[in-house]
Amino acid sequence: MLTFGPIPSRRLGRSLGINNIPPKICTYSCVYCQIGKTFNMKVQPQVFYSPFLILKEVQNKVKKSKEKGEPIDYLTFVPDGEPTLDINLGQEIQLIKSLGIKIAVISNASLIDKKQVRENLKEADLVSLKVDSVEEEIWRKVNHPNRSLHLKSILEGILEFAGTFKGKIITETMLIKNINDNSQHIKRVADFLAQLKPSRSYLSLPIRPPAERWVQTPSEEVVNQSYYIFKEKVDQVECLIGYEGNAFAFTGEVEEDILSITSVHPMREEALKDFLKRAKSDWSTILKLINKGQLVETEYEGNKFYIRKFPK
Ligand code: SF4
Repeated sequence: MLTFGPIPSRRLGRSLGINNIPPKICTYSCVYCQIGKTFNMKVQPQVFYSPFLILKEVQNKVKKSKEKGEPIDYLTFVPDGEPTLDINLGQEIQLIKSLGIKIAVISNASLIDKKQVRENLKEADLVSLKVDSVEEEIWRKVNHPNRSLHLKSILEGILEFAGTFKGKIITETMLIKNINDNSQHIKRVADFLAQLKPSRSYLSLPIRPPAERWVQTPSEEVVNQSYYIFKEKVDQVECLIGYEGNAFAFTGEVEEDILSITSVHPMREEALKDFLKRAKSDWSTILKLINKGQLVETEYEGNKFYIRKFPK
């Protein structure tokens, strides 16, 4: 199956997935990968499928989705591996553009120091780049990259790409307990993001079964702290902690609204009080959610914050 969906995606709305790499061929073997360890590691882009076959599959899926009244916001290259390993990615993007729907590529950024890969990405509307670390040692621990790859060159490649790319760049940083989540390291990642100036940076958590069993999710406290460290350097920051759905939509259900907002943005006490006032509710709602184990109170730099409890 070269396509799947459309599925709801917090980052992309309704996304129709394009699987342009056979499973699972990747440049990394991330400890948190939800599709297991990489046994077929590659770093040289090559041909996998005919671009015209991909176009035909996407055309069919778009047609069927339209017939069923299913909207599509993005056609997204998000295979079970690294999409930029596909040497024809640029041609596929060109062909698929004829369908008049925005195109996204979710990449681990490991090959972006190659000119050809940057060229292949240039016609996309949105590119998501993985930045789990800006330190070689930590990067090797988290992403288990192929030995021929070097982080310094990748980070330079990311900045070079950002200098010429006309579409949106977003970033994703996966937080792993005791590996890349200490505040000094998060500050260094945030400094790099400040240089990059992405449209939005996402902090995500290993909430699905990881490739390595020892991988753990950081505490709500640490996630909250990381969020605010990022916030100091990047305009738009969101947490992806595992709840799809209606972030920020005012449904009139005050508890639901608080849970959906705090699953993306930890809220300061004052912001929450203000929200409750507007929703004609009071602090007892918060105590109820805390007692039910759905909301957690944390502190950062002398302020109280509330964040949705993570799934275990
Ligand atoms: S880059 Fe993505 S597909 Fe590759 S190992 Fe990491 S999480 Fe898995």
